Amino acid sequence: MRKMLSSCLHSIASCCCKKWKPSEDEERSEKDGTVIKNLSASEEREPKYPSRPLPDPPAPVKPGGEVYVALYDYSARTEQDLSFNAGDHLEVVDKSPGEWWVARALTGVSASQQGYIPANYVAPVESLDAEPWYFSDTKRLDAEKMLLAKWNQSGAFLIRNSEGRKGELSLSVLDQGTVKHYKIPKLDNGHYYISKLKSFPTLKELVEYYSRQAEGLCVRLTEPCKKGQIMAPETYGLSYNTVDIWEIDRKSIQLSKKLGTGQFGEVYQGLWNGTTSVAVKTLKPGTMDTSDFLREAQLMKKLRHPKLIQLYAVCTTEEPIYIITELMKNGSLLDYLQKDKGTSLRISDQIEMSAQVASGMAYLESQNYIHRDLAARNVLVGENNICKVADFGLARVFMKENEYEDEDCVYEPKEGTKFPVKWTAPEAINGNRYTIKSDVWSFGILLYEIMTFGQMPYPGMSNIQAVQWLSKGHRMACPPKCPKVLHDIMLKCWKENESDRPTFETLQWQLEDFFDLDTTAYDDSSQY
Ligand code: AMP
Repeated sequence: MRKMLSSCLHSIASCCCKKWKPSEDEERSEKDGTVIKNLSASEEREPKYPSRPLPDPPAPVKPGGEVYVALYDYSARTEQDLSFNAGDHLEVVDKSPGEWWVARALTGVSASQQGYIPANYVAPVESLDAEPWYFSDTKRLDAEKMLLAKWNQSGAFLIRNSEGRKGELSLSVLDQGTVKHYKIPKLDNGHYYISKLKSFPTLKELVEYYSRQAEGLCVRLTEPCKKGQIMAPETYGLSYNTVDIWEIDRKSIQLSKKLGTGQFGEVYQGLWNGTTSVAVKTLKPGTMDTSDFLREAQLMKKLRHPKLIQLYAVCTTEEPIYIITELMKNGSLLDYLQKDKGTSLRISDQIEMSAQVASGMAYLESQNYIHRDLAARNVLVGENNICKVADFGLARVFMKENEYEDEDCVYEPKEGTKFPVKWTAPEAINGNRYTIKSDVWSFGILLYEIMTFGQMPYPGMSNIQAVQWLSKGHRMACPPKCPKVLHDIMLKCWKENESDRPTFETLQWQLEDFFDLDTTAYDDSSQY
C-alpha cells in the first residue's frame, strides 16, 4: 500500500507523462461526436468576434405573434436585445433562434421595439407560469426565505409544487413574520381546495377568493411574493450570439476586481460588452494544451443546470486563456464556510447547501459526466446561500488520462498540480479509477467540510497517513453538532466498495427530505 501510494505521490510530484496529441487537425470528440477544430498558428491570430453576424435592421413585425409576459426584469446586454420588466407584455415573432427569441415589446421601457429576449424569462399570457404568484419548483425553505425578505408584507403569498407530494401544490403565506404552509389538494373533478367546504375550478379563482377574505387561513392573501432580482435564472449564454459560437474577443471583456487565485491562475470580476458582470478565469500560460481544453469545454458548455456554474464563453486565441463564467457574489464555499464559522449559517442552511451540490452532481451523473475534483473549494456561493458546482471537467484537462487512443499514456496529474489526496477515493488514488462513484466519495468529504465550517479533512494527518488510516478501514467520526443521520450519509459515501455507495440522485432526495416538514405545518393548521 505504502509502495503504491508513494509511487502515486511521486508521479504526482514529478509527472513526466507524454502529452496526448491528436493526429489530425480536425478530430471528432469521442463523447459527443462534435468536430473540434484545432487552432493552427495562423488562425490563432485571427479575431473571431463578432462570432455571428448581427441581425439586419429589425425585420418587419409579423402580425399575430404569440403574446408572452415577462417573469423577471431583464436589462439589454447588446444593442440587439430588448430591456423589459417583470409583467411587461411581449409579442414573440420568431422562436427559431432557440434559446433567444425575437420579440416586439408591447408595453414597458422598450414598447414597440423589436429585439432578442431570453426565452426562459417569459411565459405565455394566461398560463399558470405567467401568474405572478406561481413559483413552480420553489422549495419550501426557499419559499420561506423569499417571503421573509424585507420587501414583503403580511399576506404576501406564493403557490408552489409540493416537494414531498409529486403533482400536488402548496400555498405559502407570510403572517406577521412567520410563514405558514397549506396543502392545495384536488378533488376527483379536478377542483382545487384548501378547506373541503369550498373548492374552485382554477387556482386563480382560489387565489381571488382568499384575497377577498381569510376565511380560516391565517391571514387574507394580499400580494404575490416579490421576486426581486435574485430570482432571475441564468440566461443561456451571454447573448443570442454566444450560444453556439462562444469564442469571444477578449477586448469585449474588461477585467476589474481580482476575486482570487486558483491553482491554475487568477480569477477576476469582469464586465462583458460594457453591460454584463461575469467571472473571468485566466489560465497561467502553459497550464494546458489549448486543444485539450477546447475539447473538454465543448462538453462542459452543454451541461446546463441551475446548480452548475454556466460556462459562458472562452478566449483561447492567445494566452492567457480566459474562461468566462457566471459570477457568484460570495466566492468559494470553502472561504464562505471558514468566514462564517457557524455565526449565521444554521444546520438547516448547511444541509440545504449540501442538497444543492447533490442536485448539481445528480445532473452530472445523469449526463454520464464525472467531476473529478469535487470539494468545497470548487463550489461557489451566490446570494441567499445559493450553491453551484464549478470546475467540473477541468481536472480532466489538467490531468493526463488513458481514455483516448494512446494506451501508454497513464492517467496522471500534470506536473506541478496539487493532487487532492484527502478528497480522492481509494480506487482513484491507487488505480487511477475515476468514476461518478469516486465523485460520491469526494461528496462525503465535502459534507464533512460543510459540517465543520471548512475544516481540513483528517485533521492532524498528512496525506499519506490519511490514506494508510483509511486502508485499515477507519473513517472520520461524526463532526461536533452534526446530526447522526448526516454522518451516516458520509459513511455511505466512503464505502470501500464503489457499488455500495449511493447515487447522487439518492443523496439529493435524502438531503432535500430533511426539510420536507410540510405535513407538520399543515397539522398546525389542522382545520385545513
Ligand atoms: P479557482 O481558480 O476556481 O480555484 O478560483 C479561485 C478563487 O476565485 C475561488 O476561490 C473564488 O474565491 C474565486 N472565484 C472563482 N470563480 C468564481 C466565480 N465564478 N465567481 C466568483 N468568484 C470566483
